[in-house]
Amino acid sequence: MNVTLFQVYATFAPMTASSSALSQERAAVADACRRLGAEGLLIGTAGNVSVRVGDRVAITATGAVLAELTPDQVTVVDLDGEIVAGSLRPTSELELHLGVYRRYGTGAVVHTHAPMATAVSCVLDELPCIHYQLLALGGTVRVAPHATFGTPELAESVLTALDGRSAALLANHGAVTHGTTLDKAVENALLLEWACGVYQRAAAMGRPRFLDEQQQLAVIEAAIARDYGTTHPAAPAQEQSR
Ligand SMILES: [Zn+2]
Repeated sequence: MNVTLFQVYATFAPMTASSSALSQERAAVADACRRLGAEGLLIGTAGNVSVRVGDRVAITATGAVLAELTPDQVTVVDLDGEIVAGSLRPTSELELHLGVYRRYGTGAVVHTHAPMATAVSCVLDELPCIHYQLLALGGTVRVAPHATFGTPELAESVLTALDGRSAALLANHGAVTHGTTLDKAVENALLLEWACGVYQRAAAMGRPRFLDEQQQLAVIEAAIARDYGTTHPAAPAQEQSR
């Protein structure tokens, strides 16, 4: 078998029993929850995290203490929500997670009741673009109108608010972020919580300014030109001294 054929086979080969159980992904979801718990974003059993591999989703179980989560408290479902592996009932926000995967084809979803994000969601209709880092989430973060947790109405409200964004606030409830990878979705949750904290402090002093469209465009152009957010090797010493 030549390399090309092997690569094609590897891409389309059916998943084995062990890979369909997503054991690595279940451990990664547990790690992500413990990290978000240590950062103060996941309190008690509130919130849920998932990661998708193809048409399988590893998602936190309902009722689990997230800051102490273990891999066996992560359930694997298909995109219709049918349980594929694990013995615990998935989170009540399962439909929200599956909806994000179906509509946006992303790789991971994080939902928290993080304190700063939740506070902002109780007051604003949107978090304005007060800092250029918010452009990593798509700029202004919309607040999805309130609906009861675990309902299709909430899922639809959040999916609409996520249009063109990787973050949304849920009115009087919390926050949702997504990303191409689990790490990215977690980083986005941390970034949103930081931005909400900045907004609260700024608003306590006065009316926060925000970046207008032109300023936002200039940042996007600069970020593309400098490949912002990635490391770069330093120039050799003789070049630096020139
Ligand atoms: Zn919630």
